[in-house]
Parts: sequence; C-alpha cells; structure tokens
Amino acid sequence: MMSAGVGLLSCVFDGSPGRMSCPTGAAPGEVSRNADCSTAEGSARESTDVAGQGPAALASVLADTGGKYVDDLERDADGLPPDFAAVVREFMALESFPGAFAEKDLRNVHILPASHPGAGRFLTGDHAAITLDSLVIFEDERYDAIVTWNRRWDDVRAGALEPAQDRALFTSLHELVHVRQFREIGREQFLSEYLADAVRSGEQSVELEREAYAIAPGDDSWAREAIAALR
Ligand SMILES: [Zn+2]
Repeated sequence: MMSAGVGLLSCVFDGSPGRMSCPTGAAPGEVSRNADCSTAEGSARESTDVAGQGPAALASVLADTGGKYVDDLERDADGLPPDFAAVVREFMALESFPGAFAEKDLRNVHILPASHPGAGRFLTGDHAAITLDSLVIFEDERYDAIVTWNRRWDDVRAGALEPAQDRALFTSLHELVHVRQFREIGREQFLSEYLADAVRSGEQSVELEREAYAIAPGDDSWAREAIAALR
C-alpha cells in the first residue's frame, strides 16, 4: 500500500544517492529503454546536486525520468473489469462516501500484475500495490482476483468474498485515492509532497497516505465501517 515515491526512487536510483540507473526487466520493444537511459545518464551528474536541494527538486527529476517509463508501462495495462468497477461504484454511491475519488478515476485507472516484466521492480518488499499516476501495480494474487472478478455488491455486503477478493477490493479503494491525488496535483507535486513528508518524519506520516488509509483497507477505515453499517 505504499505509493509512488519509493517506487519511482527505486526506478531511477541504483542504491547509492545520486547514482541513477535505468529500469531493467522490460520486455524487448516494450520500453524505449535507450531513450530513458540517455535521459537518466544525462542528468546523473546533476542529480547529486539536485538531491541536495531537497524533495521538490528531486521530485522534478523523478517525475521526468520515471514518468516516461510509467507511460510505457501503462500502454500494456488494462482497465478494471466492469463487474469489479460496478462494486466500486456502489461504495461511491453510499451517502457517507467522502468523495475520495471520482468516476473519471475509475475509468482512467489501469492495472498490471507485479509479474509483468518491468512492473515488478516497482513493488518492493511486502507491498500489496503501488500507484504511479493512473497505473496501479498489484501483487499477483490481488491482480488475479480483480481480473477474474465474479462478485456482486450483495456478496460484498454479506462478507461473502474470498480472502483474496476482499484484499483486492479494499486495496483497490486505497489505491484509487492515490489515482485521484495524482490527477489533482500532478506527478511532480505528488512526489514532492510525498518525499517531503517521508523525509521529514517517515512514511507513516505522509499526508497523501493518511488520506488513502482513512478510506481503506484497515479495519477502522471508512470502507470497512461503511460495509459493517450495512449489515
Ligand atoms: Zn498508499
């Protein structure tokens, strides 16, 4: 449930601060890797200085170099299946829904599994998903549960989802908040705010994350409490 900051960092940084590298593992022809590499290498010397200027300047470099790679990945990604999107719309139709994302986010979002060549490197550690603008990369079990979705709103209300389906649905609600945040403030601003908060006081205090966790997937999140109230 991490979001873009660290993922884009892992995309362009190869361990040591200021040293930039290209994403690897992309399928041949899928990514214009040479173009991305020359961009990354071209700004490598500069990046040492940029990093020293703080999150805003770093975010600018990351949004540029990482963004091109994300654009290429997104061309391989699919939208949400209609039955899955229909369930998400039921959440959005609840009176208590705080408007954390909108229909346009539901239509714009694209998804890839971590096993996709070139996407997996964004999903580090035990993270369930990562949002990069309107692209969400899920660990494979959640991705599979979404693309094979066969449940209706009544199943959600009744708590009749398989565990993997439950995780996939509530993680998606969380990630859709990040999709809306990216849409509203843009990649550069998203990264700048995310990194500034994370650097200042750690990932748990990132304001963009706090909003997303307030929606889902935790037991005390809006989505869980909204479902409980319907039973
Ligand atoms: Zn998040």
